[in-house]
Amino acid sequence: MLVSIKELCPHCRACCGMRILFGMSSGLGPSPYLCGRCGKAFTTHRREWNEMGRWFDPQDAGKLRYLVVSLVYVLLIGVVGGALVATAIRFIQIGRQAEEVPLSDYASYGPYSVLIGVGIGCIQILRVRFSKQRSLPVPRPEYVSSFFSFHTNLQLLVLIALVLPGGICWLIGYGLNQ
Ligand SMILES: [Zn+2]
Repeated sequence: MLVSIKELCPHCRACCGMRILFGMSSGLGPSPYLCGRCGKAFTTHRREWNEMGRWFDPQDAGKLRYLVVSLVYVLLIGVVGGALVATAIRFIQIGRQAEEVPLSDYASYGPYSVLIGVGIGCIQILRVRFSKQRSLPVPRPEYVSSFFSFHTNLQLLVLIALVLPGGICWLIGYGLNQ
């Protein structure tokens, strides 16, 4: 698919991550990894904050790229996540007849979008902090890659965290509004 990229262990092809937002990646994270399935070592495109180029280095502006990608995350996940939350609340109030909150109805979901956007922004700032802390030891430890690792699969885990409560609210609404 054009919109997503699967990350696979090069040895056993175990999937350790999905980049779902048009294959976009902030490029921040630990590397190397040990495959959670076959145990062999491999590296990814990820780098720690201190290894990224200077802000406006024309050859390698990794930090600027991180900032731009983070802002896209805040906007995109904020808008879509806000609409999902507003829909989930409708499920609880109305039950399964509730219609989804459309993206054009931003008055209904705007406040939730702001909250989610701030949350995503905080995650991106904390990731830089954690990266700086990890950067100290040399040689660096190998992290275990897995589908459930937030190092290699953060986007999908965030998506699940947004969609799962909606599903639970649908069930609650279904039960409450029989
Ligand atoms: Zn493997």
